[in-house]
Amino acid sequence: CGIVGFNGNQQAAPVLLEGLSKLEYRGYDSAGIAVFNQNEVEIVKAKGRLKSLMEKTNDGQSVNGTCGIGHTRWATHGEPSEDNAHPHISFHEKIVTVHNGIIENYQELKDRLLKEGYIFYSQTDTEVATNLIEFYYLKNKDPLKAISEAMMRIRGSYALAVMMKDYPDQIFVARKDSPMILGVSNQESYIASDVPAILKYTRNVYYIGNLEMACLKKGSISFYNLDGEEIEKECQEIKWDA
Ligand code: GLU
Repeated sequence: CGIVGFNGNQQAAPVLLEGLSKLEYRGYDSAGIAVFNQNEVEIVKAKGRLKSLMEKTNDGQSVNGTCGIGHTRWATHGEPSEDNAHPHISFHEKIVTVHNGIIENYQELKDRLLKEGYIFYSQTDTEVATNLIEFYYLKNKDPLKAISEAMMRIRGSYALAVMMKDYPDQIFVARKDSPMILGVSNQESYIASDVPAILKYTRNVYYIGNLEMACLKKGSISFYNLDGEEIEKECQEIKWDA
C-alpha cells in the first residue's frame, strides 16, 4: 500500500527503506525493494513488518546500487507471502515493478498472456501488469509505448513504478486513481505514495495526473500523456512540515 523510488548518486536501499518507514501508517502485510547495480537487479522481499526487510538487508547496507524501487503491500489478490510481495519481475526478466491498486480485468489479461507462453509465479494482479508491459516491450522495444499499451488494456487503479533491465539508470511510472507524487533535488529523483516519505530529502514535488506517465533520470523528470507526447509540469514547493 506504499510505493517509493529513488534515482540518484547515493546508495538507494537505505533511502527506500527510510521512505517506506514513513508510509507505515498506510498499513501493509509485506515489503520489498529492487535495486539496479549496472545491469543486474537485486530483489529482496519479506513477509510481515518492515523490520524483517531491514534485518534481511542489514538496514539496506547489503544491497548495492543507486537506482531502485520499494513497496509495502496490502494484499488484494493472493495471500500475504514472500512470493506475492512486490517487486515483481517479468517472465523474461526484462521488467521489474511495484504497484498499488487493483487490476480489475487481471484474469482476462492473464489468460491472454498464458496463451503467449507466460508462466506466473505469484497470485497477484500486479504480476499480470508486469508481464503485460514486458509483452509489449518485446514487441515494440519502446519503454513508454510498452507501458501505455498496457495502460490502455488495464481496467482498475494503479500507481506503478517500472524498472527495465535495458534502462538500468531510469525509472518509469504510470498512474490512475492511486496516489503517487514525484520529487527532485539537485542530482536526485524520488517517487512516493505521499509527501512525508521524501520530505527529508526534498521539498520540490510534481503531481502526476491520471493516465499520465513519467520517466525519472537522476535529478530530472519528464512527463508524458498516453500518446507518448511530452507534457509540461510545474514543480511545486512543499511549505509545511511532516
Ligand atoms: N493488488 C496488488 C496486490 O495484491 C497491490 C496491493 C497494494 O496496493 O499494496 O499485490
